[in-house]
Amino acid sequence: MKNLLSLSLACSLLLSPKSISADAGPVANSKKVSEVEYLYADVSDANSILATIDSGLLSTYQGKDRAAWEQFYREKRAKLAKELERLPSSGLSGEDTRAIAAMRKQMKAFTGGGALFSPAAKCQDAARKDIAYPELKSALVACFVEIGNSLNFEGSKINRVSALDLLHETSDPGRRKAVFFAFVPLWQAINGNNEPDSPYRRMIAGASAQAAKNRSDIDNAARDIGIDAAEVERWLVQILDAWRESNGDTMVEPWDFRFEAGQADRLLGTYIPRESLQPINQRYYRDLGADPEQLGTLYDLSPRPEKAALAYTEFVTHGRMVNGAWRPTVARVSAPYERGGLFVLNELVHENGHVVNITAIRNRPAFVDWPSDLFAEAFADVPSWSAYEPQWQRRYIGHEATEQLSLRALYSVVVLDVAWSLFELRMFRAPLTDPNALWTEITNRYLHIVPHPELSWWAVRVQLADLPGYMVNYGLGAVLTAEMRQHILGALGAFDTGNPLWYGWVSEHLLRYGSERDTRTLMQDFLGRPASPQALLEQIHRLQPVSLHGTGDRFSNSARPSTFLSPDCPAGPSQLSSQRPPSSWRGYLLWDLPIPQ
Ligand SMILES: [Zn+2]
Repeated sequence: MKNLLSLSLACSLLLSPKSISADAGPVANSKKVSEVEYLYADVSDANSILATIDSGLLSTYQGKDRAAWEQFYREKRAKLAKELERLPSSGLSGEDTRAIAAMRKQMKAFTGGGALFSPAAKCQDAARKDIAYPELKSALVACFVEIGNSLNFEGSKINRVSALDLLHETSDPGRRKAVFFAFVPLWQAINGNNEPDSPYRRMIAGASAQAAKNRSDIDNAARDIGIDAAEVERWLVQILDAWRESNGDTMVEPWDFRFEAGQADRLLGTYIPRESLQPINQRYYRDLGADPEQLGTLYDLSPRPEKAALAYTEFVTHGRMVNGAWRPTVARVSAPYERGGLFVLNELVHENGHVVNITAIRNRPAFVDWPSDLFAEAFADVPSWSAYEPQWQRRYIGHEATEQLSLRALYSVVVLDVAWSLFELRMFRAPLTDPNALWTEITNRYLHIVPHPELSWWAVRVQLADLPGYMVNYGLGAVLTAEMRQHILGALGAFDTGNPLWYGWVSEHLLRYGSERDTRTLMQDFLGRPASPQALLEQIHRLQPVSLHGTGDRFSNSARPSTFLSPDCPAGPSQLSSQRPPSSWRGYLLWDLPIPQ
């Protein structure tokens, strides 16, 4: 019944007279534009199918192998380029004009295949002073693959994700510190010895110069929320201040921060083995009226040697009208999950938030695309933040951490993203800034982390190298996540433990437009007012100020305060384990990851 209910709501989107242009299917105002638009849809599908094949998930799709798809892509793309040129530049409706602009813009981003996140570049090229900005970025991403995937620890190799897992779960402080320092070769590859012409510092100078011409991701995010970059900075600082106020005065070492905030993960990790991730995820979305199996989503969740080291979600094919009926979008989720745990589960739920987002789009082909980066990342967290609510844990895991521990685990991750957002915002504004000094200042002031300006320990997120400025979509995105969660709760009701109306309702109110509606208008209409950080600040203030321990040593004790244990969690410290997530990202341009990957 739940699914039928949501299906009927989804269908109403296609028929409702007040629906947008896509209503009876994408009805372009001009037949000519419509024809080009369906050609565009073919090219767009071929592009995403090639990326799917190159990801290693499939060798054929719809009976065609890679060569056949590539030929199809090339021919259709060449035709599309010509047809787009031939379209009239005047006498079109505003909507057609916007659709043409959207197609032209999106076409530029088509790659015609290629494995996401595996640049052909070499890390060693990052040291070269003679390479241009785009090549420098590629080289830095290659460092994350080459070095980040084989860090030396205790005589063997671990990857960046495992190292971060260990930072959360290793009780022995000395061992935890050793894990932290396993990142040194990566930090050095990214930022040398922090000299003024280190690879990162040259790269951020290039990024800043380019942003002066074309706008940065930070400018775009500010526009999407309806404020300017100065206001973005004020909001980020407000959020960090809220965390600071909720965390007492005790300083922690950088190698202890994640461990101390991650107790909920350690308490529940035992109950979330890897094989339980997908069943829990699917059950939650079924309860939300969005059955992943019914949506036809492809999941590729096991690690492979050449696979992207990040989790992401992308289109396989784009929904469109075929013979008068809507043919749904097919999405795929890629992730390299070796282990389970609450954080990984939360990430998988987040990726499915992206699936829900793109499968709910009902619009003409030009707009069957991701909404803004900011909205996409913010929306994906709407369902995933529930994983840090005790009632969600009780229902889907059978055990729960206390509210305080759960919230601390969640918002420690959010504020790290906010810290990186502020870091990038200030680096863009003044690219000659010493990044180590800046990161030290931010993390010391707001996260109470002991200063270590000699270490480039901020350099653990791929986005910092590949898409400078992107982090704001997480940091500022949290503002929209909190707003949407609060508004949905008030308008539709609770959904932390499922709600069969949820998918149909968010589809109707937020998702069906795809890339057509700008985020600012969408949120203004949704909330009935401009977005503000208030909802997020209130969430962070649910955390009660604590006076935590100085060094993290305390957590190596077996004497754990009983308030840190849920009644449902009999596990003592020796039984606790946790896994932290790999990073996640969505789309070519969209990463996620609540914690520093
Ligand atoms: Zn995401």
